[in-house]
Order: sequence, then structure tokens, then C-alpha cells
Amino acid sequence: MSSESRCPICQTPLAGERETREYAPFCSSRCKLVDLSHWLNEGYRISTPLDDLSPEDDPTLN
Ligand SMILES: [Zn+2]
Repeated sequence: MSSESRCPICQTPLAGERETREYAPFCSSRCKLVDLSHWLNEGYRISTPLDDLSPEDDPTLN
């Protein structure tokens, strides 16, 4: 069993060096930005259904 951690973006094994730990759990600032962009994209997807409420859920109709 190995406790070796890998970058979740590019699957590069993290050597545990100070340089890589700075961006943990990613191997570099580039992968960190890639993950951040994924988060932002998911955020847009999650917020989209809020504009798709059915009329029954509209409180102004009560
Ligand atoms: Zn990486």
C-alpha cells in the first residue's frame, strides 16, 4: 500500500517537495487553476436550474 498522493488533475505523482506542497493537492499552479475553472463551471451548471422553477413553486402566486 502506498501513501503516495497524485495530482487530481494530471495524475502526476507528488514528490512531496516544498514546491509541490505549495500547490497541494495539485502538482503546480497550472493544475490548481484548472481545478478552479472546473469549480466555476460546475457553479454555473448548479445555478442554472434556479431559473427553471415551476409556477407552483413561485411564492408570488400564494
Ligand atoms: Zn498536475
